[in-house]
Amino acid sequence: MDHDGVDAVLFDLDGVITPTAEKHMQAWNRMFTTYFDARGIDPYSDEDYFRYIDGKPRVEGIASMLAARGLTLPEGNDDDNDPDADTVHGLGLRKNVIFRELLDEGIEAYPGSVAYLDALDAAGIASCVVSSSKNAEAVLTAAGLRDRFEVIVDGLVAAAEQIPGKPRPDTYLRGAELLGVPADRCVVIEDAVSGVQAGAAGGFARVVGVDRGAGRETLLAEGADLVVVDLAELIPGLTEANR
Ligand SMILES: [Mg+2]
Repeated sequence: MDHDGVDAVLFDLDGVITPTAEKHMQAWNRMFTTYFDARGIDPYSDEDYFRYIDGKPRVEGIASMLAARGLTLPEGNDDDNDPDADTVHGLGLRKNVIFRELLDEGIEAYPGSVAYLDALDAAGIASCVVSSSKNAEAVLTAAGLRDRFEVIVDGLVAAAEQIPGKPRPDTYLRGAELLGVPADRCVVIEDAVSGVQAGAAGGFARVVGVDRGAGRETLLAEGADLVVVDLAELIPGLTEANR
């Protein structure tokens, strides 16, 4: 990709830098398997994940999974920090505890994404992470990439600063602002439809879609300027334009 006039690249994290979805699936599987087994309920399967959990906010996903097995639990409280609570929020916390344990085993970033980060560093172009996840720092640490990013706008920053999430462009705009780079000199890289929409709405130089399953045509239709399957595809233009 041509990097003329580009001073910074703003990266989504899950699915762009790290294959995090697999760890989330495993964590859901362990949590529900334990929960259902203890109650003699039909075992949980990855089919349940795609039908009831995938793509939904955590609380909604849990409630619909439970409903599918004829269970209802009180929602509980978001401030309730007890993963043993027999509530929807409690189950969500349990899943997150397991997810963090899985992260402790390490996660390998996509090699093409690391190669692109290296090439950006060599070309003097800044990078930042803009993620809805509250686990972003832990994911980056597990991948050995925490030191690569001066600026991280994650779910914790968004909550603390009351910044609306994707598909609104605000978290990406905040990342650009913290880097001190105007939006029209930033590239946004995203694998999710909501993230591509956020990039398209923010007046950035370019929005790159990464097709990890959302589909090339969908990402283009939602506002991506180009779509790749691996970030290493972006390196050649960078070499010519900036080195
Ligand atoms: Mg993503």
